[in-house]
Amino acid sequence: MIAQPRCPVCRHFLYLDTLVCPFCDAELGYHILSRQFFSVRKGRAVIDDQVWYTCSNRGWECNWLVWENAPAGRCFSCRLTRTRPDPDDTIALSKLAKTEEAKRRLILQLGDLGLPIVPWDIKPGGLGFDLLSSISLGRPVMIGHANGIVTIDLAESLDDRREALRIKLGEPYRTMLGHLRHETGHYYQNVLLTNDQDWARCRDLFGDERASYRDAIKRHYSMGAPDGWHENFISEYATMHPWEDFAETFAHYLHITGTLQTAAAIGIHLDESGTNLRDTDVVPLGSYRDEPVAQLLSDWEWMSEAFNRINRAMGFGDLYPFEISPAVRHKLAFMHDLVTHAPLTTEEQFLLVYPQETERA
Ligand SMILES: [Zn+2]
Ligand SMILES: [Zn+2]
Ligand SMILES: [Zn+2]
Repeated sequence: MIAQPRCPVCRHFLYLDTLVCPFCDAELGYHILSRQFFSVRKGRAVIDDQVWYTCSNRGWECNWLVWENAPAGRCFSCRLTRTRPDPDDTIALSKLAKTEEAKRRLILQLGDLGLPIVPWDIKPGGLGFDLLSSISLGRPVMIGHANGIVTIDLAESLDDRREALRIKLGEPYRTMLGHLRHETGHYYQNVLLTNDQDWARCRDLFGDERASYRDAIKRHYSMGAPDGWHENFISEYATMHPWEDFAETFAHYLHITGTLQTAAAIGIHLDESGTNLRDTDVVPLGSYRDEPVAQLLSDWEWMSEAFNRINRAMGFGDLYPFEISPAVRHKLAFMHDLVTHAPLTTEEQFLLVYPQETERA
């Protein structure tokens, strides 16, 4: 059974960003070790005889709980934010809340996948986030990654801005969560590829990442994606440079496993009669860690088609507006291999994130 986010008082299902239960008004905090909500009184909750406090960013809608000795009372997710707007920049801070929500979802998923997270303030090159607003700064903020630090333009949490960019760039999908998944892909390329063999396989699939990035940008924005790119790439952006192809593929691995995990938690499965072409039901799993990539991709093929049909029934565009070609399957298989064999180099690294990981069922 996968942990369902529920209200501890009235047992109603809750979305991950809930601060106060909309059904019974209980004040709540989210405990990342157990993936459960707990009632909070006067900013504290007692969980397994240990006192947890609400995150010091609760005023900016962070609902995670913090154990007593966390630096500055910030939760693990907030601690990863290296730069945020000034305290008096309330307009930028209101956009921060939405972005931080997407970031908390990302971090939970990285933990579920067993990927190590070393914070930027522990080790140079560790993971950190600079969350800046191009509107407040009055200059462009380039979304990107450098040496562990992910930079995000908070202005993209404004729907009109993000949609305008999406249309201008001809992208079928553009979300804050998607940006975060893509940029952490750059971080994990260096973390997960640990030897020459891995890099050789990676270059085989994605191309040589030592090719000039500057030339690649110029070519991409003057000439666009090459004809027939669908056959080899998951998106047009992935065609730009081997780094971008890796990051795009990583993001898709997270899209796929994250959505299947949610489907599994809800209990959605497809009856074989609905698919016509199968003689077994499609039952998504909370984790594909011990499964071959073929099962992950087969489950996704059926489930994404079903989700697309549901979206269309409401007049929306497809939930997953992408096509996975045989070449992209090979890239995703490599990603599955990397993620399921992630080097959890020392226990401490992992413990930083989930101190009681071993107790989690
Ligand atoms: Zn409730
Ligand atoms: Zn927090
Ligand atoms: Zn990128």
